[in-house]
Amino acid sequence: MGYLGRMRIEQRPIGARRILEVHTRLVSSFGPQKNWWPAECPFEILLGALLVQHTRWSAVMEVLNRLRSETGFDPERLLAVRGPVLEAWLRPAGCHHQKARRIRAIAGWYRDQGWQQLSDLPSAALREKLLAQEGIGPETADAILLYAFRRRVWVTDRSALRLYSRLGFCQDQASDFRERVLPHIPDEIEWRKEHHALVVLHGQRFCGVAPRCTGCPLTRRCEWHQRAELS
Ligand code: SF4
Repeated sequence: MGYLGRMRIEQRPIGARRILEVHTRLVSSFGPQKNWWPAECPFEILLGALLVQHTRWSAVMEVLNRLRSETGFDPERLLAVRGPVLEAWLRPAGCHHQKARRIRAIAGWYRDQGWQQLSDLPSAALREKLLAQEGIGPETADAILLYAFRRRVWVTDRSALRLYSRLGFCQDQASDFRERVLPHIPDEIEWRKEHHALVVLHGQRFCGVAPRCTGCPLTRRCEWHQRAELS
């Protein structure tokens, strides 16, 4: 358990206390999200991270269920599947030509590297290797590091930037988020996994590109909402 995890809530710095308040309100609203990204194995998380791009999670689940039953998430068995067959399995998730190519590439990479060898790498080196794979950008790499490899990283995605900038914690820029919010985010891995899930759900339900503030559990603490009320 990290520094913040060992401290009682009232002893934590003000920034951390405010973030914990946000977390508590989101849990009250959406319920606990400890199993938000269920997976049998780390390779399933890698596949899900590639499949989810530009599609809904329900479509990803359909494809993952097919891959589970056909290959058991064994990279070797997946690589043995003929290209047209794999593309047909991936069709529900969209972009099936591109995703089939990326999934075959990641399966070959994962098989060649091996879970143990990847697990032994420091986070920065592992992140570099992930970023070198087609279809894996910074947000996807961080999500894989957090959920598949259980590394103490944070996913600075659009949902987090929108939420924390509208609440008034930072500007809507990754660099400002890293400077003013990230140091106060508790470093426990399970907490980070749940908080990312809550922020994504909140973004889908309320704080999207155009905020839908009615019913949002964070209105009383939100600078954006208070400014909108006054205008
Ligand atoms: S009150 Fe509105 S702007 Fe503020 S966090 Fe909620 S949805 Fe976003």
